[in-house]
Amino acid sequence: MAAGTLRSSPIAARPASGKPREDKRSLLVARLARLGIVREADLALHLPLRYEDYTTCVPLTQLCAGVSVCTEGVVTASEVRYRPRRQWVCAIESGEDNSVTALTLRFFTFYPNQQKALAIGTRVRVFGEVRDGHFGLEMVHPKFMVLGAAAGYDVPLSNRLTPIYPTTAGLSQEVLAKQIAKVLQREAVLRDDVPEAVRRQEVLWNWSQALHFLHAPPPELSGEEQAALSARTHPAWQRIKFDELLVQQLSLKRHKAARASRRAEALNHCGTLTDALLQRLPFTLTAAQQHVWKEIGNDLGRAVPMHRLLQGDVGSGKTVIAALAALRAVENGRQVALMAPTEILAEQHYHKLSAWLDGLPVRLVWLTGTLTASQHKKALERLADGEAVLAIGTHALFQKGVTMPNLTLAIVDEQHRFGVAQRLALRDRGAEVEEVHQLMMSATPIPRTLAMSFYADLDVSVIDALPPGRRPVTTRLVNQKRRAEIVAHVGKRCADGAQTYWVCPLIEESEKLSLQAAQTLYEELAAAFDGNGKTAEGVPLPKLEVGLLHGRMKPADKKATMEAFVRGRIHLLVATTVIEVGVDVPNASTMVIEHAERFGLAQLHQLRGRVGRGSRESQCILLFETPLGATAKERLKVIFENNDGFEIARQDLRIRGPGELLGARQSGVPLLRFADPERDEALLERASRVADRLLKTKEGETAAIALIDRWLGDKAEFFKA
Ligand code: ADP
Ligand code: MG
Repeated sequence: MAAGTLRSSPIAARPASGKPREDKRSLLVARLARLGIVREADLALHLPLRYEDYTTCVPLTQLCAGVSVCTEGVVTASEVRYRPRRQWVCAIESGEDNSVTALTLRFFTFYPNQQKALAIGTRVRVFGEVRDGHFGLEMVHPKFMVLGAAAGYDVPLSNRLTPIYPTTAGLSQEVLAKQIAKVLQREAVLRDDVPEAVRRQEVLWNWSQALHFLHAPPPELSGEEQAALSARTHPAWQRIKFDELLVQQLSLKRHKAARASRRAEALNHCGTLTDALLQRLPFTLTAAQQHVWKEIGNDLGRAVPMHRLLQGDVGSGKTVIAALAALRAVENGRQVALMAPTEILAEQHYHKLSAWLDGLPVRLVWLTGTLTASQHKKALERLADGEAVLAIGTHALFQKGVTMPNLTLAIVDEQHRFGVAQRLALRDRGAEVEEVHQLMMSATPIPRTLAMSFYADLDVSVIDALPPGRRPVTTRLVNQKRRAEIVAHVGKRCADGAQTYWVCPLIEESEKLSLQAAQTLYEELAAAFDGNGKTAEGVPLPKLEVGLLHGRMKPADKKATMEAFVRGRIHLLVATTVIEVGVDVPNASTMVIEHAERFGLAQLHQLRGRVGRGSRESQCILLFETPLGATAKERLKVIFENNDGFEIARQDLRIRGPGELLGARQSGVPLLRFADPERDEALLERASRVADRLLKTKEGETAAIALIDRWLGDKAEFFKA
């Protein structure tokens, strides 16, 4: 609104008056910075969340519940009530006819000056959502503007939709809008960096046209246009999203191209160790494994750093590929680091590789955060003097103080667990130690659109088939109420020689509670299977060895428990999600998941993937507690109906959005702000094509640099990899 603006209540704090101008300015700058706005270009790209319509004023007599409107009336009552809680209640009435049409205004937080402004007899314009209250229609916390004396219509209505921006404490919509309006006059901000030929071919709006439209939509939009505006499908939005996706593509592709001109050690010597491993394996590689090994082997043989993502569903056999890649480096006289996200998994890799490599001249080192000081020192020394060539561990591998003078290959298992932020940390570490080849492995398949957007800088290999002889896992959904039946069922299976994982969820708010839950479950099951247990019907339960595994155990105890389970001495292993990733015990064929409704889809799929690895028929029993929330219900349905990791990941993306899937939500890595790779797939494909085209010419490259600068500024490095 131009003349007199609607104030939102409560009124935003203002800097104390009388302060020098400079102070106000720096306060404003600080508040803008909190929104990530540091440059004029950022202000222009601070786009409205939505719009409010102050262009028409709906008469009080025509209000109906459920819509957000602007209306006017005269204040006829104003009082503070204390029941059921403190609130200020006003009534406004239309002064036009005698049939009294009133609207209640309700404020739960309010200030004396607001009460003063809405004195009885004042004519006021209000904006908010109309609701059906106890005593007729009402608005809670409406925005309002005092129009003055009872009869005067002295303030014209706005002639455009009013943008509502994301903002922060102390920064009002009006101040923000004013700052934005100012930069929308700057030539540099409005300059169109996408070459005209591209714009024409892609039928795109002009940059300045799109910005102006979104910050101040013209009056008299058709209903269709309004809908497109709020659905963000309007051509103005399309232009913004196209540029955002284009910048992401340009940034990743330029980085990928730059990688091709950097140098890494070419690992040309092939044969001695890799062949030895292939010969001693108890199985032959599947065609899918052979194919990816060939791709990786080729990469490693080139003098260009490899950045390859190896994808393969849970159980597809990625570890042996990692081992082959590691040996390729070792047979070339180089060092390798293999990083896993958890101690247990690192430990398992260490054991598996030790067994596979037994008798071969390859010295391994095991490095995690829980080694004693002297063990740690010893490990570092062996790596530093080059005696040990293969380091296996957790992220402790990539901390300061670890030197591997001949490091040429870094392998990251279950890389999705590390998230984008750690991938970047690894990248930086890689830069320090010169160019190393990087092999990232993940069982969480990245849906095509995400792969195209966030992983466009990586090469991808996929193991698209499981080793032969796997039996599909049968999934059962069982209400917690029928738990006793499941206990008996599991007892029978264990007695028949199958082993069982019984997983209880991590309670996020409290690790202590999680441990308690695991402990209680362990005690319950240990008692049931101590040899004297009976079912409710009096049928004796078998005597079983029950174990407990959780993240807080001493590493040595964890190791001992896991070993006992691997050896078959523990029949039933109660565990927290420490076993979620990568653990491989072929004889385990039953997985019970307690409170499955609390788990995410990727987690459930990973957990289920722990069974179905041996020749025995496998079961995954998901215990759930009713009532189920909508999302939980949806997740359980997806996991019940699907075995294919790709489909599950796709559904996960649909349910959760890309942020969490990328593990970037907490990392502060800027994801896309406006575009959504899944929903805007068509735009993404166009942006990818245009990026390829631009990067072929000199002018295109110049345009790319300008675009990247406009959108990312100093954040550009986040999109390197
Ligand atoms: P993931 O891809 O989930 O990391 P693993 O590497 O742990 O899978 O492999 C799962 C199991 O399959 C392991 O026991 C492994 O030894 C076995 N395996 C791997 N490749 C083959 C193959 N070609 N034939 C038979 N078994 C295999
Ligand atoms: Mg694995």
